[in-house]
Amino acid sequence: MNTKDQPFIFERSKPGRVGHSIPTLNIPEQNIDELIPNAYLRKIEPELPEVSELDIMRHYTALSKRNHGVDSGFYPLGSCTMKYNPKINENIARLEEFAYIHPYQPVEQVQGALELLFELQTSLAEITGMDQVTLQPAAGAHGEWTGLMMIRAFHEENGDFKRTKVIVPDSAHGTNPASATVAGFESVTVRTNDQGLVDLDHLQEVVGEDTAALMLTNPNTLGLFETYIKEMAAIIHKAGGKLYYDGANSNAILGITRPGDMGFDVVHLNLHKTFTGPHGGGGPGSGPVGVKKDLIPYLPKPILVKNGDIYDFDYARPKSIGRVKPYYGNFGINVRAYTYIRTMGAKGLRKVSEYAVLNANYMMRRLEPYYDLPYKQHCKHEFVISGRRQKKLGVRTLDIAKRLLDFGYHPPTIYFPLNVEECMMIEPTETESKETLDEFIEAMIQIAEEVEENPEIVQEAPHRTVISRLDETTAARKPILRYDKA
Ligand SMILES: *Cc1c(COP(=O)(O)O)cnc(C)c1O
Repeated sequence: MNTKDQPFIFERSKPGRVGHSIPTLNIPEQNIDELIPNAYLRKIEPELPEVSELDIMRHYTALSKRNHGVDSGFYPLGSCTMKYNPKINENIARLEEFAYIHPYQPVEQVQGALELLFELQTSLAEITGMDQVTLQPAAGAHGEWTGLMMIRAFHEENGDFKRTKVIVPDSAHGTNPASATVAGFESVTVRTNDQGLVDLDHLQEVVGEDTAALMLTNPNTLGLFETYIKEMAAIIHKAGGKLYYDGANSNAILGITRPGDMGFDVVHLNLHKTFTGPHGGGGPGSGPVGVKKDLIPYLPKPILVKNGDIYDFDYARPKSIGRVKPYYGNFGINVRAYTYIRTMGAKGLRKVSEYAVLNANYMMRRLEPYYDLPYKQHCKHEFVISGRRQKKLGVRTLDIAKRLLDFGYHPPTIYFPLNVEECMMIEPTETESKETLDEFIEAMIQIAEEVEENPEIVQEAPHRTVISRLDETTAARKPILRYDKA
């Protein structure tokens, strides 16, 4: 089934039409049956659409216009940092000298690429206040797992096999407890207090000789900076645990403060968030991990080193947790992040954070009269509001999110974090103009007014999109991904 104005590519198919011409064969034709063993030969011809080049171009261009991306509109998805991806990053990543090198080329031939990686890891160590950085992990969650495996190796080296627990606040990103479990730990929850910060008394209760680490998302998913971070660091270190900093969203702290200075032993960054790598489509990411000195021996191998003027890989790392990714991470994303850091410079990066925080606070204060604000203090790069006032009038946060589609916006993250009822988590980012922020705020205010005057319009939204309200459960659980002629 499809909407009338946009037939499937199969429905456009006419026998004999071609969209691509293959060069004529200039070698003798071979008999496939002799070359490929019978077991691997195709028994049924694939049913492919037969369309002209123009048909196929229009088809996919039309579909692409239905997508929402940072290049097409405002995308305030909390905890995702959907900032603009500068096009200079793309130009640099596409330079032949970067794009066409092969990972098996000898290091003498790829010194420039290695120099870029080396400078990137050095910059990231400086930005985070850590002693060394690996660029291998392919995403944030992968970085978390890598960091925890190093912490595990460290404790085991010390004969500390009883440290089986990782403490994770209830306001942490969902990947934190998941990574702890995948790394073989038991995750223990520490509560958030009425200020939206980790409850220090509860932390004292759960910490102990079995504590391997505390994983902290900071600013936490409520957009709040953990004010008592030094106290927390002291509690965990006194108990012999390590401190892990989830820096996926470092948009609020660049050039202002550093996890290393706060006492953290491990940190990961998401280059595909804070450092402008394009994301959202499940494409390649990069989740570098920085560590303090005593964890350096456990870094994934090989590590990239500089011997005199020559960049090289060091494989002689007996305590390393091993490789976590083939070759040396997602190179193209690392090139983009390096380009961004060099474009912004140190002062520019600090401005990024100042504007990200300013934009979020501006929006939060302007929305405060219309939506419940569970935590009143200033926020960092994002903030959380609650739709519980609207819920009393029969409109749920999901409805508000759907209504935003009518205004051409990607909705914020909803129903996360779990500790706020009817939650909306909004992250405007620094790359948006005041006009864009104001237009979004006006849309949010109009929706709040509609809830009071005409709730049906919100409950039945969206009205102006290609497809109206979906049955969410069926769409998620039983998606139809295959075209059947019948
Ligand atoms: C996005 C995010 C992650 C996970 O990163 P992925 O690259 O999606 O694996 C972890 N922590 C926080 C705070 C995040 O925002």
